[in-house]
Amino acid sequence: MPRKFIVGGNFKLNGSQSSLKTLVEGLNQGNLDSNVEIVVSPPFVYLDQVRKAVRKDVAVAGQNCYSKTSGAYTGEVAPEMLKDLGIEWVILGHSERREIFKETDEEIGIKVAHALKAGLKVMACVGEKLEEREANKTTEVVFRQLAAISKHVSDWTNVVIAYEPVWAIGTGKVATPDQAQEVHKDIRNWLKEKVSPEVAEATRIMYGGSVNGGNAATLAQENDVDGFLVGGASLKPEFVTICNAKAKM
Ligand code: PEP
Repeated sequence: MPRKFIVGGNFKLNGSQSSLKTLVEGLNQGNLDSNVEIVVSPPFVYLDQVRKAVRKDVAVAGQNCYSKTSGAYTGEVAPEMLKDLGIEWVILGHSERREIFKETDEEIGIKVAHALKAGLKVMACVGEKLEEREANKTTEVVFRQLAAISKHVSDWTNVVIAYEPVWAIGTGKVATPDQAQEVHKDIRNWLKEKVSPEVAEATRIMYGGSVNGGNAATLAQENDVDGFLVGGASLKPEFVTICNAKAKM
């Protein structure tokens, strides 16, 4: 079975009721390829607004969630709450969560497992920093992050991996198609060896890091690039171009 191309838009800490209304209207009017799965991820407070307004063939994701269902965890959001709101997806392990909010590999693994148990689909992010790449530690880092997820996950059906080299995120320094393909292939081989050949074949691996309307089509041609996780450009009209970068209209 060919892997369905998937494009996620991570709005991060951006947007207002009014700007997201405009953004959603643009998506709703866009000529989006039906062979591509599209997921948008606004800040928590706008999830309900966006889910209600966006076309039904575009899914909505939380940008994070906690590893508990309820309790005294001020400021946190449970995956069960996202499900309750009709949200289908969550992004976990984004490098900004890892770096700024000090989430550890282990915490992310636990969160992924809890979100899956709650019935969400998960975009699980991995990726190396510039100094790690320069020290030839890319696979060591990415495999360590994957292992922490794998330790807690037995069913990979609802997991998509987002390979997001930290040096490419929000920098305008996109990975070359060769660089992306190389790591994606390594990730697939890791899945084959550590999980199973079936999971390796079926699991989608998105690339994230300065994807835009100009570079998406070339990246999308790589065999192991099964989609994109897009930050900055997902707030612009060119997001439609990125969504359509792979499949023929
Ligand atoms: C991201 O934050 O997931 C991301 C890929 O950001 P950008 O596209 O802006 O580099």
